[in-house]
Amino acid sequence: MTDIVWKELDELSAGLAEFYRDLHRHPELSFAEHRTAALVAEGLRPLGFEVTEGVGGTGVVGVLHRGDGPVVMLRADIDALPVAEKTGLSYASTVRATDPAGDEVPVMHACGHDMHATCLLGAATLLAHASAAWSGTLLVVFQPAEELARGARAMVDDGLFRRFPKPDIVLGQHVGPLPAGVIGHGGGPLMAASDTAKVVLHGRGGHGSRPEAAVDPVLMAANVVTRLQGIVAREVPPAEAAVVTVGRLQAGTKDNIIPDTAELGINVRSYSPQTRALIRAAIERVIGGEATASGAPQPPEVEWVSPAPLLVSDPDATAATVRAFAAHFGQERLLPMQPVTASEDVGVFGEAAGVPTVYWFWGGLDAETVTTALREGRFDSLPANHSPHFAPVIEPTLGTGVQALVVAALAWLGSPAEDRGPSQV
Ligand code: ZN
Ligand code: ZN
Repeated sequence: MTDIVWKELDELSAGLAEFYRDLHRHPELSFAEHRTAALVAEGLRPLGFEVTEGVGGTGVVGVLHRGDGPVVMLRADIDALPVAEKTGLSYASTVRATDPAGDEVPVMHACGHDMHATCLLGAATLLAHASAAWSGTLLVVFQPAEELARGARAMVDDGLFRRFPKPDIVLGQHVGPLPAGVIGHGGGPLMAASDTAKVVLHGRGGHGSRPEAAVDPVLMAANVVTRLQGIVAREVPPAEAAVVTVGRLQAGTKDNIIPDTAELGINVRSYSPQTRALIRAAIERVIGGEATASGAPQPPEVEWVSPAPLLVSDPDATAATVRAFAAHFGQERLLPMQPVTASEDVGVFGEAAGVPTVYWFWGGLDAETVTTALREGRFDSLPANHSPHFAPVIEPTLGTGVQALVVAALAWLGSPAEDRGPSQV
């Protein structure tokens, strides 16, 4: 039955590759994906989807009804990053844009979201043309601003599940540094929750030669940084994975001036609500404690910004989807994966709709390059997501990504009426 879905894949691939190269050449920053959104909307309309643009800013939603059955949501993110591309590809980006702070920055699809958008358009095309193979409702969601971990929330807050059919399952994928053609999967917590704290420590400035007349926020900050290392080492249970990184530490202007304040930017990754709460509380306790210990003239400020939720790929739903992958791709192309410390906001959709999310990774690296790197023990040196050198090979990455979405969707959509026994019709 599903053969009718695949017959078109080969003839589609050249057009999809061109679509991908075009998106890659024209990346857009988070919440500024106007051209990308217009292109995917334009691609969906002739397929029969009811298309709505501007959902949650620059999001695009397509709905395709094919009789009774489950509502299946396929999601792709579409934004790019402020990175200067160094891939040397003929279709490399030279785009520069103004970021929200007003600075001019280079822009690149360094996370592969151009591949995500193209694969979803390809899958939507195959499923729309092969509607005899399924029944139910297909909801395709092109999400903005994943890199800010805000786009999914923006779409939900804009009424995604009130204005459009509420899904029974949310399906999504991410291209990454695996061999092209390979699918990486895992059930349970798959990608970390991320929290960022912006901290201001208050001291009292003065002359560098008279520390007795000042309260030194630099020393306070240094103690905070050291003390924070104890949270994962001494407070988080050893079986739990977590990361606390101080990625930003700023204070002072001159060597003989004690500044008034010091600022820290702290990032946290965790895999359970308990550990997440424990770490956040411990960070606030350490910062408050060090300020008190230093005799700070006023309490520190701790502001939590841009949280990304824990991504849990529902274990049962993932297992069912992976069985469908195995039947289609063969077990040898599937790779069980450990949770990764990167974060994703796709989990917002499943959480908001109260339904399972299934998420997987698929490879974008030339298989021979990966094999050579593995043999030479330098797999970690291969360019991964967010690198200025990250460049998925177009095939078989594109074809595999399209097929994975279609296989997963068909695993959850209903069978067409004519496939059922007479008693059910
Ligand atoms: Zn990214
Ligand atoms: Zn990404």
